Amino acid sequence: MDKDSTIFISRLLLAPLIIATIVFSNAFAQNNALPLTAAEKQWLQEHRNIRLAVDISWPPFEYIDDEKNYVGMASEYIKLVGEKLDIEFVIEKEKPWSQVVEAVKSRELDMYSCVLSTPQRREYVNFTRPYLSFPMVIVTTDRVTYVDGIKDLKNESVAVVKGYATQDLLEKNHPELNLYRASNLTEALQAVSLGKVFAYIGNIASVSETLKREGLTNLKISGQTAYKFDLSMAVRKDWPEMIPILQKALDSITPQQQEQIYQHWIKLRYEQGVDTSLIWKILLVALFIVGLILIWNKRLRLEVDKRTAAEAVVQQAHQRLELALRGGDLGTWDWNIKSSEIQINDRWLTMLGLPADRDKIDLDFWEGLLNPDDRDGVQVAVKYLLSGKLELYDEQFRMLDANGQYLWIHSLGQIVEYDKEGHPLRAAGIHQDITELKQARTELEQAHAQLMNYVDIVDKYVITSSTDTRGVITYTSEAFCEISGYSEQELIGQSHGLLRHPDMPDEIYRDLWKTLRSGQTWQGELKNRKKNGDYYWVHAYISPNFDEDGSIEGYTAIRQDITDKKLAEKLSITDELTGLYNRRYFNLILPQELARAEREKKHIALIILDVDYFKPYNDNYGHLQGDIALQAVGKVLKNTLRRAGDFAFRIGGEEFGCIISFDQEQIASNLAERIRREIEDLKIAHDFSPACPYLTISLGMKVHQCGGEVPPEMGRLYKSADEALYMAKEQGRNRVVSL
Ligand code: GH3
Ligand code: MG
Ligand code: MG
Repeated sequence: MDKDSTIFISRLLLAPLIIATIVFSNAFAQNNALPLTAAEKQWLQEHRNIRLAVDISWPPFEYIDDEKNYVGMASEYIKLVGEKLDIEFVIEKEKPWSQVVEAVKSRELDMYSCVLSTPQRREYVNFTRPYLSFPMVIVTTDRVTYVDGIKDLKNESVAVVKGYATQDLLEKNHPELNLYRASNLTEALQAVSLGKVFAYIGNIASVSETLKREGLTNLKISGQTAYKFDLSMAVRKDWPEMIPILQKALDSITPQQQEQIYQHWIKLRYEQGVDTSLIWKILLVALFIVGLILIWNKRLRLEVDKRTAAEAVVQQAHQRLELALRGGDLGTWDWNIKSSEIQINDRWLTMLGLPADRDKIDLDFWEGLLNPDDRDGVQVAVKYLLSGKLELYDEQFRMLDANGQYLWIHSLGQIVEYDKEGHPLRAAGIHQDITELKQARTELEQAHAQLMNYVDIVDKYVITSSTDTRGVITYTSEAFCEISGYSEQELIGQSHGLLRHPDMPDEIYRDLWKTLRSGQTWQGELKNRKKNGDYYWVHAYISPNFDEDGSIEGYTAIRQDITDKKLAEKLSITDELTGLYNRRYFNLILPQELARAEREKKHIALIILDVDYFKPYNDNYGHLQGDIALQAVGKVLKNTLRRAGDFAFRIGGEEFGCIISFDQEQIASNLAERIRREIEDLKIAHDFSPACPYLTISLGMKVHQCGGEVPPEMGRLYKSADEALYMAKEQGRNRVVSL
């Protein structure tokens, strides 16, 4: 509310209230001499000088002016009462209000001229009926729109004047307020004006007066309290006789006299030039208007708040729209459907390479720019939009630009206005140049298709799978399924151990896991078992997969099928007739085994064995039978040497070699003896052997003690074993000689 209306309110509030007071006291007005009783007259005789307590600075009620005169509304009532009762009021003109109060309490002064009745005061003075009445109002700075009573002031700081009735009243009834106790009204209002406190509560008359006098232009009356400010005269408690006397005097004051007083002290200040008779007429209207204004004020405040908020939202939305349009490089269109006129922004034109020299085009112009191939589709969409079949128009089409090239445009829009019958009046939307986007998308689609092609190829031909950290399969390629013989469903969720072949030593898997868990790639050859029990060999590359934090989340393996290679390898080291390893492999493995034995602190024995009298066997039973006998020997060797680290070879025509690693020497000689016996026990008839009726062998063995003085050397070892064999032959065959 602005300053003018504040004054307006003050005037309107004052007028009716003053009148109300007049009406109220009018009922008791007496024109004749006062009807005092004898006792009252007697009492007056005895109390001709009354020491009067007044507020020296409380305009317009009472104050001491520059000439030290007691003036104000109350002073005029006092004057009239004094005349009517023929007594003299001795006025205390120096003391500030707080001292005056103390003086009345201590009966240095006898009577208040103009005070509000409060419980505290009722303890030491008696009151007449009120002769002046004003509402108590709330004063704030004009930044505050409206205060809806004292409840709106909760926890706010509120100024009162020390010793004023408002102080008692608010202290008692409103402990929730933070009271600031000023020593006078001017100070209190200044505190509000300077922002030291939020509000002042006081009666409307003195507030209006002081606001005007002090020129506190940033203050205003922002609300009303439920309290009224009823002013009475009050007399020390030990003088109860005086109250009825005073009351009779007050009651005898005529409405005309009262009106004069108001006119003098209040009306003249605020309503100059207004005909007094008008006051009566405006009474009801004014009261009504006061109420209305307060309500209107409250509404207005809510309305203003709402509108401010709404405006802020609109403003923000507008800014966002601007930003979005600019950021999105968007053209806008707004089509007046009746006139076929389309309002467009600059970007709509510049997008097409057209000069931004107009803000309107017509529909034909737009249609003319459309690629003929797209025209039909767009027209259907527009038709649907207009008929309501389509709520959002969302089309992509080509438009001819100024260089004669077609640009891809993405247009989005909707109906934004309808007439009363619900027919569309306007449609609006945006245009975006998506040529590059389209191009990029095409390229992306091509790249994606190519990638998918690769993925297909990989899936089909690369044996690959992924597992989680525990080795549970999470992905398999088609090729993987094919080689393993399992379906994808059978593999997913299974441990990769499912495919492990029993031939694969634990050691390899230990090494594999150790490598992977350290974050490295492992590669090596693995023999796997198919679903049907067959095997296949792969060369596998297994790598950890890392998540964003760099921790391992699983493993992926890519494998190459090396089954054929492995087979070729095997063939190259296998003796065809017996299935034992061949001489080539013997040459390869012997030094390796010697080194390993040394490393693992094991002993190693080399046995060379030769069939006894095999030449006569061949000669008599035939070469084929000879081959069968050789196969039988091979079988015995294979079955006897089953432990890992034991090997059997066919190293010549009817000559075999065995490599045995062991901890105790006994094991080797036992094994050699066992081989000899098992061959003899085959009971392959050999009628032409001088040594035995059956086919036998002779064995020469050389043991290499690990950690021995001489580093293991294949040639020497072989030579010793061969010497031992020679000795076995010499000693009569079908025996073991160990060196
Ligand atoms: P010894 O007890 O001294 O060894 O007498 P031996 O007759 O076995 O003499 P030797 O070792 O010299 O004879 C080797 C014979 O083994 C010669 C050859 O006929 C035969 N032989 C070698 N390779 C094959 C083969 O692949 N198949 C057959 N059936 N016989 C073979
Ligand atoms: Mg031989
Ligand atoms: Mg022989």
